[in-house]
Amino acid sequence: MNNQAFVQRDLAVLWHPCSQMKDYDPAGGSLPLIPIKSASGVWLEDFEGNRYLDAISSWWVNLFGHANPIINQALKDQLETLEHVILGGFTHEAAVTLAEKLVEITPPGLDKCFYADNGSSAIEVALKMSFHYWRNLGQSQKTKFITLENSYHGETLGALAVGNVALYKETYAPLLMDVITVPSPDCFYREADESWEDYSIRRFVDMEEALARHGEDVCAVIVEPLVQCAGGMRMYHPVYLRMLREACDKYGVHLIADEIAVGFGRTGTLFACEQAGISPDFLCLSKGLTGGYLPLSAVLTANTIYQAFYDDYQNLTAFLHSHSYTGNALACRAALTSIEIFQTQDILGRNRQLAAVMAKAVEHFNEHPHVAEVRQTGMIVAIELIKNKQTREAFPWQQRRGLSVYRYALSRGVLLRPLGNVIYFMPPYVINEQEIQLMADVAWQGIQLAVQD
Ligand SMILES: *Cc1c(COP(=O)(O)O)cnc(C)c1O
Repeated sequence: MNNQAFVQRDLAVLWHPCSQMKDYDPAGGSLPLIPIKSASGVWLEDFEGNRYLDAISSWWVNLFGHANPIINQALKDQLETLEHVILGGFTHEAAVTLAEKLVEITPPGLDKCFYADNGSSAIEVALKMSFHYWRNLGQSQKTKFITLENSYHGETLGALAVGNVALYKETYAPLLMDVITVPSPDCFYREADESWEDYSIRRFVDMEEALARHGEDVCAVIVEPLVQCAGGMRMYHPVYLRMLREACDKYGVHLIADEIAVGFGRTGTLFACEQAGISPDFLCLSKGLTGGYLPLSAVLTANTIYQAFYDDYQNLTAFLHSHSYTGNALACRAALTSIEIFQTQDILGRNRQLAAVMAKAVEHFNEHPHVAEVRQTGMIVAIELIKNKQTREAFPWQQRRGLSVYRYALSRGVLLRPLGNVIYFMPPYVINEQEIQLMADVAWQGIQLAVQD
């Protein structure tokens, strides 16, 4: 079966995520739908043998390449032993060992692990746990959450409510709980001569003010540590997290760190919070958790929070949240094996070298008349296109300039998936120097085409 025939089968029955389906119309749509037959390492292969470098780790989930032999073998073994069992009232080896490992490798003070099966669900769990903790303590006036502008925490209604990307949120606004939204420390908006650190400190004034004003009624502040990924890979300095941790303690408010996208080495450290030397009250993990193999998420929290739910059943303080596939054995095994790879190979050390290679490969983009900024945090590099570099006027979103880069890159065998006018690289950690160079060359050529009138 060739690509076109397969796409026809798809379009007859499938509704794709995050898509205007009309874009895929083979007669005149603006996006080709690419059927993938197999994948290996950083490469995806379609039904006609064309290959695509997966520069975005298949939506930021893949760490050690597709069809990784170590994870594949571990999953085969797990499959022969136990594929899944109910986690209410029952337990199993992979779920326990993974929880032990997560407690061990995450920042200090996170002692308990609650599983869910995707990122948005982990956010729902953290929001509900925080609210419920305060309620169990008799502080039921605490019902609000503070979030940052341009943040993203997923698509379910609770997660969408604490997110702030208008494109995903606006339509559903009438369905969403009210949140307190504070300006982001996003360093794209710093003054020309201002450092990331100075700007992040300056922006904290708004957060401090919101906490001082609303702290009594607030359960938690939720943030994406260091990089607001879906919001266009916007970045800020760790000092903001340090200040936020102190202020949350001062005002008696929880800190929820959504490391769903940035966890597991993306920012240069295993977890982004490490760069600020802080521990959140809730740490949400998913995406890279299983190395990109299977849906799984985890919320790590402190014993003190766990203890507030621990009581005789009749007192009705328990956290009764559940998902059918909570703690799925195959997913836990994939996660465990992925963490073992971190512990047996110097992944973070190698990533530092790869990050330096990426930095070098995109250095010259800074001189481009339509590049407003090249920014990087660890294994995430973003290139922001702009209509006018002097006035900082953006390209109108309707022109979909990023889409031209996407289409061009596909024709050159690279999967880049710009966020609006932001081109970014977030590759699997098994990428090599040559492949990084290819990614950068293709992005450069794609930008040349996309900024023409
Ligand atoms: C992707 C993402 C989520 C949502 O995870 P899903 O598995 O897609 O529901 C939440 N927060 C952040 C920061 C993310 O990048």
